[in-house]
Amino acid sequence: MVEKTLEHAQPLTVFAEDEVIFRDSVREFVEAQVRPLVREMDEHAKIPRPLVDKLFDLGVMAIEIPEAYGGAGASFFHSVIAVEEFSRIDPSIGVLVDVQNTLVVNAFLRWGSDELKRRYLPKLASSVVGAYALSEAGSGSDAFALTTKAREDGDAYVLSGRKLWITNGNEADLFIVFATVNPEAGYRGITAFVVERGFPGFTVGKKEDKLGIRASSTCELILEDCRVPKANVLGEAGKGYKTAIETLNEGRIGIGAQMIGLAAGALDHTIRYTKERKQFGKAIAEFQAVQHQIARAAMDVEAARLTVYNAARLRDAGKPFLTEAAICKVFSSEVAERVSSLAVNLFGGNGFVKEYPVEKLFRDAKIGQIYEGTSNLQLQTIAKQILG
Ligand SMILES: Cc1cc2nc3c(=O)[nH]c(=O)nc-3n(C[C@H](O)[C@H](O)[C@H](O)COP(=O)(O)OP(=O)(O)OC[C@H]3O[C@@H](n4cnc5c(N)ncnc54)[C@H](O)[C@@H]3O)c2cc1C
Repeated sequence: MVEKTLEHAQPLTVFAEDEVIFRDSVREFVEAQVRPLVREMDEHAKIPRPLVDKLFDLGVMAIEIPEAYGGAGASFFHSVIAVEEFSRIDPSIGVLVDVQNTLVVNAFLRWGSDELKRRYLPKLASSVVGAYALSEAGSGSDAFALTTKAREDGDAYVLSGRKLWITNGNEADLFIVFATVNPEAGYRGITAFVVERGFPGFTVGKKEDKLGIRASSTCELILEDCRVPKANVLGEAGKGYKTAIETLNEGRIGIGAQMIGLAAGALDHTIRYTKERKQFGKAIAEFQAVQHQIARAAMDVEAARLTVYNAARLRDAGKPFLTEAAICKVFSSEVAERVSSLAVNLFGGNGFVKEYPVEKLFRDAKIGQIYEGTSNLQLQTIAKQILG
């Protein structure tokens, strides 16, 4: 029995044939369609809609949606592959794809009624971008202290409140909004609602001006007596905390993927540049001090990638992955910061200017330690699991 298990065990970094084909198609797309736009998107803090449409055509906005609803019917690991590949070149596109797949679609697949799935999954597969709205001005790490209220009124709930920091706010037409149906009940009042951009009383507010992932929109959402049909409750009323926790547990593996993509991208640039740049009559990559720094960066990327792939493979295998997901997010985001910082150093003055790609990756890296649960909160999860 033991021998058989070993016989079937695969190295984590060996991809199945369909995974290789998928990765190569995403990589080819990213080189042709994303790389030429990276600087402009960062400067204008905007993702052009034609590029979003091309992401739908490529199939990366509906990776796990079953074919019956127009998706690719692929695995969570495929989402990780896509997020990593996009983030090598632009972590802003990485997070757009990540939120759509690992949070929004994921929540629909796990908690959506048949009716909600029939109504919204084909749209999410073909043209509609989704967003996931949990945070508020007063509730970030303490997410369940949210104050957006949902009052029952006949066949609907009426939502009032404000959401902050919502990724894809500009591009999205569909929002999973968390509100409480009973503030006295604490987390047991929290409920997830599916809100369309066009619902009366719903508006997208100000867009944040950010340090990094500037092209990715981060917006305020305003709900003023916004009527949401009861059929648009995702899961059960009062069970939204479960939806939020469980979706985010999976989503943070996606952030790990974004961070290893970013780190690998920074390492690629560093290897290329240090072999070309000459000082003291030779390429700077020939200095042993530089070689050791690059070797350490490669070790970091390899180790971080293993933690991300392991968490994703555990999730697809239906095994517990909570600790591994938290580990992969903390570690990968630290690696992304370290490796992109080294890239800036080894590019010298060129590392500090926008004409070269690494200063942007350095700015983009910082977000990995903040969203979908800060590093302190992840460390708390890891400690709780291992200390009991
Ligand atoms: C670019 C961007 C995109 C985002 N996208 C989304 C989105 O799509 N949807 C969404 O709902 N939210 C989103 N967020 C919000 C994000 O998840 C929160 O910013 C994050 O959870 C931290 O919350 P906070 O900003 O309120 O910080 P706080 O919770 O105020 O934390 C501040 C500091 O205190 C520390 N801290 C807090 N509590 C503890 C504790 N108990 N022990 C130790 N340290 C603690 C934190 O680690 C952090 O260092 C986004 C944020 C940003 C910046």
